[in-house]
Amino acid sequence: MTKTTFLGTGWAVPTKKRSSTSILIQPKNILIDCGGDIAHKLTKKDIPLTEIKDILLTHAHTDHINGLPGLLQASWLSGQKENIKITSTPKAIKKTKKIIKSHEFNFPFEIKYQKITGKGKLDNNVKYTEVKHKDQALAYRYKNITYSGDTKPCQNLNKLAKNTNLLIHEATFPTGQEKQAHQTGHSTIADAIKTAQKTKTKKLAIIHHKPKINIKKQIKQTKKELKAKKINIKIPKDLDTIKTK
Ligand SMILES: [Zn+2]
Repeated sequence: MTKTTFLGTGWAVPTKKRSSTSILIQPKNILIDCGGDIAHKLTKKDIPLTEIKDILLTHAHTDHINGLPGLLQASWLSGQKENIKITSTPKAIKKTKKIIKSHEFNFPFEIKYQKITGKGKLDNNVKYTEVKHKDQALAYRYKNITYSGDTKPCQNLNKLAKNTNLLIHEATFPTGQEKQAHQTGHSTIADAIKTAQKTKTKKLAIIHHKPKINIKKQIKQTKKELKAKKINIKIPKDLDTIKTK
């Protein structure tokens, strides 16, 4: 049983119920993206901060990495002794190093950085591929769970997510605003559903949507238009968990 916990499900602007993106995959405790106050969110879910030693970042944008210094500091003060690995694109690693250096931490553990490009498989069995955002960006897949990161529709994501059980897909824009979405390297609700159709996804979790979108209504209409009745679409809130086999 794999547990996917949504520590953050919003985009760059938080709402009362959603902060920026972060996802935890258990039992391996792989943290993907680190937007918002992740130490607080993990504590709310009774997950010891010292358990987080494997961090994957989809890209260098602020709403996906701004929680890192706080998480590292809280982990250190909670007794972290083991090294922490941070994996991402060369650009995101460069930015992350700068941010962490600026805090002048004196940790008793090392932060190991791993730069990745193209596509491949990591030591923790996570597969990755480059996707199409404004900046260098990655999508990740662990077993039957795929997370798009921020991207417009692309073949690389379709290949990575093929026959996935759970596709976690961004939908920054509502259906009908494909032009604006793709210009900024993002997807609409219709794009996310189409990717789920193409990849034969069983369960689609839509995240990273702008607060002004009436998400439930939009999904209902788009599902009908795209004849996507069979796809089980979830709109997870912060701290929700989805279990998959
Ligand atoms: Zn984002």
